[in-house]
Amino acid sequence: MRFDLKQFLRTGRVPYEAPLECDLAGFDWPGYTLEKPVEGSFRAELDPDGRAEVKLAVRASVTAPCARCLEDACYACEILRSWTIGPKELADNEWELPIGDTGVLDVDELVFQELVLEIPPVLLCSPDCQGLCPVCGRPKAAGCSCCAQEAETPAANQGLAILKQLLSEDSH
Ligand SMILES: [Zn+2]
Ligand SMILES: [Zn+2]
Repeated sequence: MRFDLKQFLRTGRVPYEAPLECDLAGFDWPGYTLEKPVEGSFRAELDPDGRAEVKLAVRASVTAPCARCLEDACYACEILRSWTIGPKELADNEWELPIGDTGVLDVDELVFQELVLEIPPVLLCSPDCQGLCPVCGRPKAAGCSCCAQEAETPAANQGLAILKQLLSEDSH
């Protein structure tokens, strides 16, 4: 989805509003995937000074493996942003928006950028996720019977004991 901001500044006498139609599947998302196409709206309106008020509303949800237990973690967010862009802001690209040389705003890229800023780089399935059991490797939340033994004979010490035994047998 693209929007010709330069032309809108010249001829946009009536506000423009459209539902977001963004295909963001091909973007390089940092570690998570979009659950479904984003929803929301894009709006532009000229103010009395002839500057465009651009408003973006986005609803999105993403999934990624939980950083602790690797189960699916979901994150849903709603973003509302607005920018005021006159001919000067457009020429200088003051807001560092994805605007091409011809003054066309790449709305897909803008939505992508805003979402990446909004969504935490590390997702957890729940804030108190306890991660994986170090003994059996299953999520601790699923419950396993290792936890009681774990405290008495941690796996690392067990390995060390076996190694010591092997070494002492060797030296005979
Ligand atoms: Zn988790
Ligand atoms: Zn376990």
